[in-house]
Amino acid sequence: MSDKNIDRRSFLKGATLAAASLGVPTAAAAERKPSSAKVPTKQLGVTGIQIPIIELGTSQTLDAVYDKKMHLCYREGVTMIDTALVYGWGASHRAIANFLQQIDDRQNMFITSKSESTRVSGLRKGLDECLDELQIDNLDLYLMHNATNPKMLDPDYIKLGDELRKSGKTKLFGFSCHGRDIIPVMNKAVRVGGIDVILFRYNFRQYGDLELNRAIDACKKGGIGLIAMKAMASVPKELEQVAGFTSDNFTLAQAKLKSIWADERIDCINSEMDNVKRVRENIAAARSTQELTAGESHQLNRLAALTAGYYCNGCASLCEKAAGRRTAIADPLRFLMYYECYGKQSRARELYGKIPEHLKGFEPAQIARAEAVCPQGIKIRERLAAARELLG
Ligand code: SF4
Repeated sequence: MSDKNIDRRSFLKGATLAAASLGVPTAAAAERKPSSAKVPTKQLGVTGIQIPIIELGTSQTLDAVYDKKMHLCYREGVTMIDTALVYGWGASHRAIANFLQQIDDRQNMFITSKSESTRVSGLRKGLDECLDELQIDNLDLYLMHNATNPKMLDPDYIKLGDELRKSGKTKLFGFSCHGRDIIPVMNKAVRVGGIDVILFRYNFRQYGDLELNRAIDACKKGGIGLIAMKAMASVPKELEQVAGFTSDNFTLAQAKLKSIWADERIDCINSEMDNVKRVRENIAAARSTQELTAGESHQLNRLAALTAGYYCNGCASLCEKAAGRRTAIADPLRFLMYYECYGKQSRARELYGKIPEHLKGFEPAQIARAEAVCPQGIKIRERLAAARELLG
């Protein structure tokens, strides 16, 4: 039996037993070796702008009165915040607006926001809404939220970037994407020009992805700034624990970050540090000059192999096309990850509820075709059933 094909029930059972006997590393490992320096910075693409190598992602609950995480980040040099119109339906923007007023240091903060609109008029309006909610005059970076198709980078969209930069409402312009389907979009961005920054899914699971690596190379050569997100690439905790990770230097979360920072093509990691402990843990990793050892890298590779069947890469163009495009697969599995791994139960349910009902069905023949092309070996039928049960 290959690692990928381990039966889920036996794996979970093994996970529970093994987790009890394995010492799960804690943040204390790297915090024992703190540096007095602030978080290192790096130039974002060819913009000439220096940014910290980690930014705070805010698709999470922020304290609207006084958010300790944002203030701690600011004090430690994580002066970069990523938000979006859709995060908390304005709550994220409003909490950040309050935070910016409290620190009164807008010029030293780098603020990114996004609009989900795919139309030029909607993106133009979305930027005004961002500024209004954030109560600032301009963004440092404005992104189209989740560009999944190269056609989205049409001439009007590229012209809009020029217009918005000239207007002074944003310094930089680009797009984000959650899945592996970004590869053709990244390649088009290089061809058409006018894109300053791309925020994309990149983590330790994707080192061997040749096509993605070529797209990253092309973007880097084209001067596009690259920010990695989904850095944790999490699967349910009990599965991660059975794979085991031991290190004198790093926690597992820190090792995952380190594996991305080892790639010089990446300028920054977007990390959703949703509690103070996680902020401290990630900042300790960012400051540490210790590289991952070969043994630690090997353990990450082993984790990726053991849990591949539970991690959806977001390559919807493979499975949904094979299924006949009448079945949503990548999105339900992403929302299931929010539920199982990130404790975002209500957000996951809310997002799942927005998927049209007719896309939630899964005929056995369709799913068999989808499973046959899935590079992760995911038991799609089983996972969609779990999504329906937990999120429906
Ligand atoms: S289920 Fe498999 S093929 Fe479909 S998006 Fe996820 S990883 Fe890709």
